[in-house]
Amino acid sequence: MRRNTTQRMAIEQVFRQHARPLGVEEVLTYGRRLVPSLNQATVYRNLKILIDDGWLKRISHPSLGALYERTGKGHHHHFHCRVCNRAFELPGCALKEEEAAPDGFVVEEHEIFLFGVCPTCMGMAE
Ligand SMILES: [Zn+2]
Ligand SMILES: [Zn+2]
Repeated sequence: MRRNTTQRMAIEQVFRQHARPLGVEEVLTYGRRLVPSLNQATVYRNLKILIDDGWLKRISHPSLGALYERTGKGHHHHFHCRVCNRAFELPGCALKEEEAAPDGFVVEEHEIFLFGVCPTCMGMAE
């Protein structure tokens, strides 16, 4: 049986409430609103279990490092807001892999991050 079910359920709840990739600090901050005793070691341990279970996947952000997001959404890209430092999911994929690489390169997969300002931060700037 799984141990620490309350903490794991809180972490799962955080990902259900925030439909975007989250870093460990964000998971910790939001998770503590549900379970105040949550600490970083617990978060790391549960993230690993959720990845092993196939419920979460880890993505590598060029500047934020490791982020975690729900699996099962299909291939998509990400957007990073330079103002609030949050990552967002973008729907779908417009890249033609076979045209993106020169002859002789065999593309197996790709990850794309777009950088800019999110709608919330654009609104606050006015
Ligand atoms: Zn923003
Ligand atoms: Zn793509």
